Amino acid sequence: MKKLIAGNWKMNGNLSANHALLAALADALRVKPACDVAVCVPAPYLAQVQSLKAASIDLGSQDVSAHPSGAYTGEVCAAMLKDFGVRYAIVGHSERRQYHAESDALVADKAKAALAEGITPIVCVGETLAERQAGRTEEVVKRQLAAVIHTNGHCISEIVLAYEPVWAIGTGKTASPEEAQSVHSVLRAQLKAATDQSARVKILYGGSMNAANASSLLAQADIDGGLIGGASLKAADFLSIIAAAQ
Ligand code: PEP
Repeated sequence: MKKLIAGNWKMNGNLSANHALLAALADALRVKPACDVAVCVPAPYLAQVQSLKAASIDLGSQDVSAHPSGAYTGEVCAAMLKDFGVRYAIVGHSERRQYHAESDALVADKAKAALAEGITPIVCVGETLAERQAGRTEEVVKRQLAAVIHTNGHCISEIVLAYEPVWAIGTGKTASPEEAQSVHSVLRAQLKAATDQSARVKILYGGSMNAANASSLLAQADIDGGLIGGASLKAADFLSIIAAAQ
């Protein structure tokens, strides 16, 4: 399966920094890489990134409303994202689950809203440190994925899944390749039970992936790419991870 390296800029960037980062990426990615590449950017910069990015880079958002339109002040619906050429929408990132109290059911509805507009949701699942220490990792990620399967039925084969242990996000602590692979294989089995098209679903790893650890993570059987936070803001680091995925 072709790997996917997706950058999550989070709430970082400005017009001039985005310009410089995209110019460096466009220069290096003039020839389409052997893996898929995307950048998930803050909503106000979608238009800028759409116009500046190289053709080999896909555009992503960091969230999407569960609603198609209407009185939802502050929200951005999938049809609006579509207007700006958005191909991917991150849903259920742990920062949204944690700071915006997003439930498993809401995350599943957001995935459905994205799919309805032909946008691929990158559905994030992952356990906290306390949950891991309590031996609850499998139970937590399976519960989070089950909600998305329940709401999306056979369309589940159209999602991208991202395993992001919360304790590894932005902390510099990475799951070892074996730890990550063991959760990925659980998720793969759950997808397999839900759809005969499970082989199409990319399962990304996210959590302090960087130029130094990318190759060993990406070499695992069920790790089909990476969701990259901090390291996606530096062109050289992001490009090294892309190189490791080819
Ligand atoms: C993320 O925000 O999805 C992420 C994986 O962040 P970082 O790479 O900085 O840990």
